Amino acid sequence: MAFIKKIGVLTSGGDSPGMNAAIRAIVRTGLDYGFQMYGIRDGYMGLHNNDIIQLGRHSVSDLLNRGGTFLGTARFPEFKQPKVREESVAVMKKIGLDALVVIGGDGSYMGAKFISELGFPTIGLPGTIDNDIAGTDATIGFDTALNTAVSCIDKLRDTCSSHKRISVCEVMGHHCGDLAVSCAVACGVEAVLVPEVPWNKKEVYASIKAGIDAGKRHAILVVCENQTDVYQMAKELEALIGLETRATVLGHIQRGGTPSPYDRVLASRMGAYAIELLRQGHSGRCVGVQNGELVNEDIVECITKHKHQFMRSTYDLAQKLR
Ligand code: ADP
Repeated sequence: MAFIKKIGVLTSGGDSPGMNAAIRAIVRTGLDYGFQMYGIRDGYMGLHNNDIIQLGRHSVSDLLNRGGTFLGTARFPEFKQPKVREESVAVMKKIGLDALVVIGGDGSYMGAKFISELGFPTIGLPGTIDNDIAGTDATIGFDTALNTAVSCIDKLRDTCSSHKRISVCEVMGHHCGDLAVSCAVACGVEAVLVPEVPWNKKEVYASIKAGIDAGKRHAILVVCENQTDVYQMAKELEALIGLETRATVLGHIQRGGTPSPYDRVLASRMGAYAIELLRQGHSGRCVGVQNGELVNEDIVECITKHKHQFMRSTYDLAQKLR
């Protein structure tokens, strides 16, 4: 698009491994096309406070393999106020920015939608470990978080088996069970509890007890966050079955770490694609990957009309193979 000269990029909401790789691809692709590139610190808060720096080729050196986001990210609920958004767009116009790329989850997409509705070209990239965004098979960071969680659960399994223990392990995912069911298949766990599939304690406990009664040395339950109190669950299982039972909440460990090669490639592809979309004159679009191909769709439809497709067949497989 002829009038675009300066493009800004920000990361918003929960961080995810691969955000740096996306920023790097956005900056370098933009520079290659002759755009001036700007980084906005701490998400929409930095946008509103004019915390904005110019980025060159070397500003994004040595970032590809680094977790987190070097621009920082923040929760900035004030951005839900129309006045704050208008002031933020005024900040961008004042320093001459012509377009914006937002990397974040569905909350950040809401902010991006409003900015594009104010007539400011904006593209969204799915950066979240939860994999809970519609219109894409994978989000930036999901694969790394899965690798981290799997490596932790494998370690729990080793020691559970040595000591004849039961382990209740809570993984992240917000309200999406994709991370939990992927862990369940990758680690061959005895039970997986996710928001998308109704479950009841009695049946879950009975199936764990049946496994132990049949001679299993240990059992692992993977529980998506926001499902139940895993510490209470561990107490109840120990009382019922008589084996020592421990709860482990993996927590923010899953959000950090070196991005996996898959996430680096995905983030780099999506970042470069965002610049192509802006060059072609698009605004209010979000980027996804479907069957290996990059796609884009209207950000409003992505947030409001479509629902993320839960990995149901992976859940079913976990049930079959346990
Ligand atoms: P994520 O993007 O990871 O889902 P949040 O839901 O916390 O994380 O959203 C990140 C930020 O996006 C918020 O702190 C806020 O600045 C902005 N945001 C979220 N929801 C809205 C909304 N409805 N309108 C405008 N901005 C929003």
